[in-house]
Amino acid sequence: MNADFINRKYIEDLLEDARFADNAFIDQSLDKANEGKALSHKEIAALLKTENSEHIQRIFETAGKIKKRIYGNRIVMFAPLYVSNFCENKCAYCSFKCTSDFNRKKLTMDELREEVKILEMMGHKRLALEAGECEKECSIDYILECIKTIYDMKFKNGEIRRVNVNIAATTEENYKKLKNAKIGTYILFQETYHEPVYNSVHHAGPKKDFNYHITAFDRAQEAGIDDVGGGVLFGLADPYFDVMGLLLHNEHLEKKYKTGFHTISVPRLCPAYGMNINDFPNLVSDDTFAKITAVIRIAVPFTGMILSTRENHDMRKKLLQLGISQISAGSSTEVGGYAKKNKDDPSKAQFFVNDDRSAVSIINELMDDGFIPSFCTACYREGRTGDRFMSLAKSSEIGNVCLPNALMTLCEYSCDYGDDTFREKTASIIKKEIPRIVNETIRSKTADNIQRIQNGLERDFYI
Ligand code: SF4
Ligand code: SF4
Repeated sequence: MNADFINRKYIEDLLEDARFADNAFIDQSLDKANEGKALSHKEIAALLKTENSEHIQRIFETAGKIKKRIYGNRIVMFAPLYVSNFCENKCAYCSFKCTSDFNRKKLTMDELREEVKILEMMGHKRLALEAGECEKECSIDYILECIKTIYDMKFKNGEIRRVNVNIAATTEENYKKLKNAKIGTYILFQETYHEPVYNSVHHAGPKKDFNYHITAFDRAQEAGIDDVGGGVLFGLADPYFDVMGLLLHNEHLEKKYKTGFHTISVPRLCPAYGMNINDFPNLVSDDTFAKITAVIRIAVPFTGMILSTRENHDMRKKLLQLGISQISAGSSTEVGGYAKKNKDDPSKAQFFVNDDRSAVSIINELMDDGFIPSFCTACYREGRTGDRFMSLAKSSEIGNVCLPNALMTLCEYSCDYGDDTFREKTASIIKKEIPRIVNETIRSKTADNIQRIQNGLERDFYI
């Protein structure tokens, strides 16, 4: 299969024409977005290219409103879990590239259990399993064994309830195996949709094949995985080009499989061992990064947006107001990093973490800022994936499940991991938010479940 859904000239022409979009056109585009109408490619390109500060402010406000209208104020929490740093690729931006000289490692099942135990003690219920690409050391069977090991673990306070998987592009047969292993989202970053830039930063290994990489989600969908998450690494190519590439890829999947990206991640190139950030000519400034995050939120209102600890505290705080709906917390980007004794040696991390606060301090701050940290994994466990999920999101009913699930899982978190102060804080959020659940039956069921959680005997309620 060919990646004919990415037409380079079409994107370049759109972006060139967008330079001449007048104020009235941009205002009309934002009016449309505020009314919940879908924007054309031309309108999205105009928003991306505007440098007018008043327009940018309106873009920010619109993005924030859209996020609030669809998903409310819940922020889903997760943590990455690196299981292997063996890699046969040579990606210029990554410290795991095959030419990096360090002792490679993959977790034994005992080590994996140790990592999961620590993550569970932080309160996490949703993990993103990460691995480099190496058929010999990190085969699909090893990945499947890791997933099974994680799902088999039971703790006093529950278990990991959803394992998303971020591994290299693979075959349809392997995707079927992942599907059978009950993964959550299959995540794969395209890195860049600009083929010449892609070729210039992927020097060796299977990932060098642009066409094979970009058609991975087609194979995943053919294998029955209807929950896929895309992303690019901003800073490799023109970021506006890559936003348009993401949107075209999403449209291709929607057209062909009736379901586009469940999530879009917005990683930005940051320093890593064995690379010099100044070698990359398309680094993205904070202002541009905020603008593109907000424009993605406007362009795909129903798609979850994920932000990692590549960004620092201030930037994460800002982007949460612009449409981010899921963040990692307390992360390590190193194999065995959670159990590691000497935290000061970053040489085996995939990238340097810029928000190294503990999970609990991130969760506390979210609450102070008016968000509801959510440990919800309900949709995937209820079979609300693919077009079932999208039709729920588009019907504006998603708030009727996100809010109750956020409150029930936060209550569970506070009972199992919080101190008295934290429990008081949670109780006051719950008291304020329960009346906001629109559906009366769900509202009363949520209140009842919260009472049962607080009584201490029952856990894991979801709608
Ligand atoms: Fe390997 Fe992925 Fe790093 Fe590339 S980005 S070197 S494939 S781990
Ligand atoms: Fe995500 Fe579904 Fe839970 Fe909402 S209800 S937080 S969309 S899993």
